[in-house]
Amino acid sequence: MSAFIPVNEPLLNGNEKKYLIECIDTGWISSEGPFIKKFEESVAEQVSRKFGIAVSNGSVALDAAVLALGIGKGDEVIMPTFTIISCAAAIVRAGAVPVLVDADPLTWNMDVNQIETKITKRTKAIMVVHIYGLPVDMDPILNLASKHGLKVIEDAAEMHGQTYKGKPCGSFGDISTFSFYPNKHITTGEGGMILTDDPILAEKCRSLRNLCFKPEKRFVHDELGFNFRMTNLQAALGLAQLERLEEFVQKKRAMGASYHALLEVTNGIQTPIRKTDYADNIYWVFGIVLDEEKGYNAEEAMKRLASLGVGSRPFFYPMHLQPVFKKMGLFKDEVYPVAENIAERGFYVPSGLAITEEQIAVVSEKLKEVLQS
Ligand SMILES: *Cc1c(COP(=O)(O)O)cnc(C)c1O
Repeated sequence: MSAFIPVNEPLLNGNEKKYLIECIDTGWISSEGPFIKKFEESVAEQVSRKFGIAVSNGSVALDAAVLALGIGKGDEVIMPTFTIISCAAAIVRAGAVPVLVDADPLTWNMDVNQIETKITKRTKAIMVVHIYGLPVDMDPILNLASKHGLKVIEDAAEMHGQTYKGKPCGSFGDISTFSFYPNKHITTGEGGMILTDDPILAEKCRSLRNLCFKPEKRFVHDELGFNFRMTNLQAALGLAQLERLEEFVQKKRAMGASYHALLEVTNGIQTPIRKTDYADNIYWVFGIVLDEEKGYNAEEAMKRLASLGVGSRPFFYPMHLQPVFKKMGLFKDEVYPVAENIAERGFYVPSGLAITEEQIAVVSEKLKEVLQS
């Protein structure tokens, strides 16, 4: 029996150790160190943005982005129901209301055709979230935003190195965010970044990140901020990772191609689509959706996979079904059939950067075994 194949394992065998030792040797371990600025500039350059603001994770990056845009009480923000809680949490914590749209059954991204009917007088912004490897179709969203005077927030947490019509993800809209959690293409352990071309928004985010300290009068505050700072240790990791972004993207695409080849003739499942008119899949994760005819759901399939030594994770659980939001009286009686279906029947198989061809073959074989019953 071979070892358990984990759902994600990062690759840390570049300059990570070297840069971390540099932090320790120089004593720069807090958020004051020199790697922070370098990392911010490098990420901003990679996605053609003017400003990068490093923060402690991708979730608080969204919190800061929403607050910096002045979104608050009485405002509505249109966003996908099929995403991570961080997106809706940032809107709700700011006192605003998330307005949901369903997912597209093939790309699993928000269905852009459903956005316009959700726009009201209160709509302040659209929060775009690129899901699992393919970018959201941005042009219709940017057109709607300019037609209706809306802000655009781009959550590009899963899109390091991806492009939309040749333009880097993370470069769209008023403000964009990344995560550097260990299952993202670039990791800092925990970490995130806010990107913008607007110097005022950048300054607001910097201030929110650092307790809204006033440069001229420290310990006197006009506004409440947070400690969302990233450490020099994290930025050191991130810089070493960023040096290998192109290689990592190639590796992910090769992983996707291998899974596709091995699972091509498998009945009873839907796999990610390889490309759209505007992007080739980057396979942040390799998702599987069971056909409705299968007599069991993702939970059952994942249990069976685990018993065969293969790790997996469920798809996102839609925002409109979250108990925490139900308790707040949000999304009452709302139904989003596509998101509900993929949440019930979707999961992803091991997709980390350290995965080997051999492991991909084992995962595919075990998955087929599960699907035979
Ligand atoms: C991972 C992720 C986040 C949250 O990032 P953390 O660094 O884990 O807080 C936000 N949005 C999306 C789409 C993500 O995949």
